[in-house]
Amino acid sequence: MVGAGPGGYVAAIRAAQLGLNVACIEEETALGGTCLRIGCIPSKALLESSHRFSEAKESFAQNGILLEGVKLDLAAMLRRKEQVVNTLTRGVDALFKKNRVTRYLGHGRFVAPQTLNVENSKEPLELKAKSILIATGSKPATQPGITLDGVRVVTSTEALAFAEVPKHLVVIGGGYIGLELGSVWRRLGARVTILEFLDRILPGMDGEISSQAKKIFEKQGLEFHLGCKVRSVRVEADQCRVDSEGQDPITCDRVLVAVGRLPNTDRLGLENIEVELHKKGFIPVNDNFETSAEGVFAIGDVITGPMLAHKAEEEGIACVEHLVTGHGHVNYQTIPGVVYTHPEIASVGRTEEQLQEAGTPYRKGVFPFRANARARTLGSLEGWVKILAHAETDRILGVHMLGAHVGDLINEAATAISFAASSEDLARTCHAHPTLGEALREAALAVSKRAINF
Ligand SMILES: Cc1cc2nc3c(=O)[nH]c(=O)nc-3n(C[C@H](O)[C@H](O)[C@H](O)COP(=O)(O)OP(=O)(O)OC[C@H]3O[C@@H](n4cnc5c(N)ncnc54)[C@H](O)[C@@H]3O)c2cc1C
Repeated sequence: MVGAGPGGYVAAIRAAQLGLNVACIEEETALGGTCLRIGCIPSKALLESSHRFSEAKESFAQNGILLEGVKLDLAAMLRRKEQVVNTLTRGVDALFKKNRVTRYLGHGRFVAPQTLNVENSKEPLELKAKSILIATGSKPATQPGITLDGVRVVTSTEALAFAEVPKHLVVIGGGYIGLELGSVWRRLGARVTILEFLDRILPGMDGEISSQAKKIFEKQGLEFHLGCKVRSVRVEADQCRVDSEGQDPITCDRVLVAVGRLPNTDRLGLENIEVELHKKGFIPVNDNFETSAEGVFAIGDVITGPMLAHKAEEEGIACVEHLVTGHGHVNYQTIPGVVYTHPEIASVGRTEEQLQEAGTPYRKGVFPFRANARARTLGSLEGWVKILAHAETDRILGVHMLGAHVGDLINEAATAISFAASSEDLARTCHAHPTLGEALREAALAVSKRAINF
């Protein structure tokens, strides 16, 4: 294994469970990859803390809880985030020990087929293996005209650790990373302007949800400039000047560049095993995740597909299971996507736009959270659940949600799609009351126009 992110570390453990002798090379001291160290986990810790801060200021009074002088201790908030990260990364160390995965600290580089050097400050160590899995993940991308300086013009890594709240943060990119981190700093008091090249936020997600979410985020104070082509960012003393085509320049004190991520193949020695890269730098693989070099496999962010931790995990498991047992498969239709803003956005399967483009006949059931009893008790009335089912077979093809905790609800939808459930199956499944999950059932009933509570 090269890389101990969610793809590599999960694959290492599964391979060890299946009886293989496993070594994992990771160049960072802490295991867990982008996800645990500088991605999913620290961002969710800050989203939670900043959400509580904004609730304490804005909505506790409606619940009869009166607080005076609510103040931010940013250093404590960042410390809590670090503690969460450290606990989880140390947990991966413990899992490696439990499963007898041998860990090598250093940079892995192919020197010949089936041979890797582990490079660190000591003498390079040579490791030979019959099968090698590349799980080296990704790194932030930037664009021409923008030079990252790690202080004023930064990536998500630095934006997870600003020592003080920016006065005005400009976020370039209206994808999930830009929206999540923009929300964090907005809640903590920054003015936040999001610049997006396309005419919508969250490209690839359900169109209705994306436009509704934008309205909600605007009410929360996020400012959006859509169709905005950023030409350059210049740092002048402690200010940044962002120039975009056809728009007035924006002056701010921090710029977060969140324009996507690039596969990590730096100094991996792929030329020594004759693996050629896809034009965007991804490693091409076949259905069993094998590269053009025999015995060399690749999974996760370093290959094509959604750059998500659970997608990397699924691929890691499928890859080693196929290697050992001859069977291993990932159903890409059941990989959910979640944006952890407030409200959350969650999606699995096909969008309406994709069904229309493919000419697939479908029926749609929608149920709003304002008609859900649990949402009322939570005071979270925004959003809805939308289910798309095949017009003839009733098989569920896609589920899209906007609302509180929908990131947890989406797993039920993913299970339904993976078992090829119909909307009728979901509608006939008894759901506990009062729960947010009842909205999913009601949306399933709405597919055949028989929702009860709306
Ligand atoms: C701010 C942010 C928030 C995110 N939030 C979410 C989320 O909420 N949910 C979600 O599903 N995804 C999220 N992601 C994406 C997620 O982190 C990635 O999709 C996931 O980590 C990919 O896993 P991976 O194992 O392929 O690679 P990575 O996690 O990137 O791990 C690769 C590892 O390989 C190591 N490495 C690289 N090259 C070498 C080498 N030559 N030798 C040794 N080691 C090497 C790296 O140090 C790294 O530890 C987020 C990402 C970011 C940046």
